[in-house]
Amino acid sequence: MRRALILRGGRVLRFGAAALEALDVRIGGDGRIAEVGPSLPDDGAEILALGGQLVLPGLVDMHQHLDKSRTRALLDNPSGTLKGASAAYRALAPSITKEQMIARARATVDACSAHGTVAIRSHTNIDPQSGVRGVEAMVALREQCAHRMRIQVVGHVTSEATSMLPESEAWLRQAVDLGIDAIGGVPAFSSEPEAFLKLLFACAERSGLPLDMHIDEHLDSGRAVFSELARLTRAYGMQGRVVAGHSSALSAMSPDRAKRTIDELREAGVGIVTLPAANLFLQGREADRLPPRGLTRVKELLAAGVPVATASDNIQDPFVPIGSGDLLEMARWTVVAAHFGLGDLRTVFEMVSSMPAQMIGLGADWGIRKGARADLLIARAETIEDVVASGALERTVMIAGQVVSQIRVQNF
Ligand SMILES: [Zn+2]
Repeated sequence: MRRALILRGGRVLRFGAAALEALDVRIGGDGRIAEVGPSLPDDGAEILALGGQLVLPGLVDMHQHLDKSRTRALLDNPSGTLKGASAAYRALAPSITKEQMIARARATVDACSAHGTVAIRSHTNIDPQSGVRGVEAMVALREQCAHRMRIQVVGHVTSEATSMLPESEAWLRQAVDLGIDAIGGVPAFSSEPEAFLKLLFACAERSGLPLDMHIDEHLDSGRAVFSELARLTRAYGMQGRVVAGHSSALSAMSPDRAKRTIDELREAGVGIVTLPAANLFLQGREADRLPPRGLTRVKELLAAGVPVATASDNIQDPFVPIGSGDLLEMARWTVVAAHFGLGDLRTVFEMVSSMPAQMIGLGADWGIRKGARADLLIARAETIEDVVASGALERTVMIAGQVVSQIRVQNF
């Protein structure tokens, strides 16, 4: 077991606290937080003097696609649409080896880690072109990177697979056997969306895994399946274990219908993740003026008490050709794209930290509290709002109390 470590002289955001506090953090040799308090005694521990830096919980990027990450230069998406992106990736997928997929994904994991992310939930394609090959690769990546990033793999049934119900069920069984962490898929791609949705719930029930779906990613309120989603969540007793990604069609509804739908989602205990990069890039391309933003009703959902996270989604692939892996950059995009106000930056910080941590089930193992693993972002900044607004030039990222990346500024 390692020597204990004390983070001394930081300003700490304790789990559940509204404000920073001048506290020390003692990390045991097991990499877990042993004590948080003022002026902790040395007791033979190693000391890391922080000189007033912020000690924050590590960021949680709860929706990415590491299997497709960094394929941008290998293909094109001339229409710039979701359909175009899916077709481009489908054509490329059979030629990608597992080793290539892992190497590109590792580069994205490195970038995310350097910016302060400590956990990534990654949706991994299950489709007729590659079956569960991507899942095999991402499960291997999860093990390779375990010392520096907590990765969750979602079995993401997509493209034509969503209309091949018996085959999809078999692929999902294989993916569960391979060790995925959650069940996902795209009901909107299916010729039988409600039957496909039910298949995903049945698979979740059988495997005991949570659900995290791309529930729409279109702006057609006539095709929305939120009511069925809420009904199934209650019927299967999965309150708090179902996440609906995108939920863009909520923005296309009348305010009255949207309010009723939001109430249904809250009562069913469904969490929402908004994905501004993909929504802004892919949605609304057909408009000849005033193109819509494509996001869900982020502020209304939060005001109603529905948990909402924001996340990177695709990084440098046909769905979104850019992306630095900086989740705080995504937080900034969310401020702009979801029309937040100047006083909302602290709320947006929760959308990349406590809210996704809760939604992906990290539970008491995340956050600055006794017993949680010491997965931390230490940043030189005045306030949390400053970190959201502009990031921090100097930062240290720890996993289980060990430094996994560090950026320092030198003035000459
Ligand atoms: Zn996605």
